[in-house]
Amino acid sequence: MTGVKELLQEKDHVFLDFDGPVCDVFAELPAREVADRLKRLVGPDLPADVRATADPFDVLEYAWSCGPNTAHVVERQLSRLEGEAVSQIAPAPGAQETIREWAAQGFTVTIVSNNSVDAIRSFLTVYELTEQVRRISARSTSDPGQLKPNPTLIEAAMRALGASPGQCVMIGDSAADVLAARAAGVASVALAVTPTKREALASVDPDALVSDLADLRSAG
Ligand SMILES: [Mg+2]
Repeated sequence: MTGVKELLQEKDHVFLDFDGPVCDVFAELPAREVADRLKRLVGPDLPADVRATADPFDVLEYAWSCGPNTAHVVERQLSRLEGEAVSQIAPAPGAQETIREWAAQGFTVTIVSNNSVDAIRSFLTVYELTEQVRRISARSTSDPGQLKPNPTLIEAAMRALGASPGQCVMIGDSAADVLAARAAGVASVALAVTPTKREALASVDPDALVSDLADLRSAG
């Protein structure tokens, strides 16, 4: 694996995952509660794995399999609940400083996230990060196939910047971030704050692995 500072120095554009690196979206409004509220919109006859899941995105995926109308209703409600969730939380320690430092060093920063564009935008506004974050490439449709690990959101970010894959790096805390980056031909830095996450992320072979967002500072 490459040294993370060397890797960043070679790049112009930072693609940053939202849930995890920037904030813990469901810290106050738990993901399980959100998932359960979405399940009620889909109906009583859910498959056992959907009934059991605590992941709102599993419910969205199931809703999509039921048809675009169901998926639309679930996605809109998920977006509202994400908005509610992020209104109750603060940025992860060091996240604001890191984003500001990158912007000051001349990187463009794009949030690339499976969370809704609206929720992310309102969070960035509240914490005065809209100037440092060039764009948001995030969920804007009810089709879960457009989300990471699919490279669509990363490719959209590159298109908007007129950037080539070699100029970009994706930083995220899940395997989906690493896989989406690889599918787009973009380097990836995995953020693993616990030993369990470190093991899971190492297994998908990111270009670099860090345990703290602070490891990505002073790297320009
Ligand atoms: Mg994440």
